[in-house]
Amino acid sequence: MAADQDPSLIPGGGHADQEISATTPAIRDGWRSAVPDLRVDEVCGCGQCPSISLIADHSPASCGEGGRTVVTAFLDDALVILFVDGGVPSYLELAPLDDSTVYTEFPDASALEF
Ligand SMILES: [Zn+2]
Repeated sequence: MAADQDPSLIPGGGHADQEISATTPAIRDGWRSAVPDLRVDEVCGCGQCPSISLIADHSPASCGEGGRTVVTAFLDDALVILFVDGGVPSYLELAPLDDSTVYTEFPDASALEF
């Protein structure tokens, strides 16, 4: 169970290759606008978090360049990590900060502090 708490164990392995500070509110708005086209591809299934991978209904293959961006948000007792690949959100991870903390679904977006 404790292995799930290791922040280095992010999907895809390795660490972010882009600075979080590179994002702007305009870029984030773009991500939000892509969300309605997304659906859940896979659920983590570890039982302690609601992490999901996302897949776009309309594949942005022609404009999918831009690499991976990672955005982290903080809750009182958990981290929320959004992976954006080529401008499209691809994975949403919720990582409790403590083994005793269990989330089964994502909190309301208004609770997040990006
Ligand atoms: Zn999990």
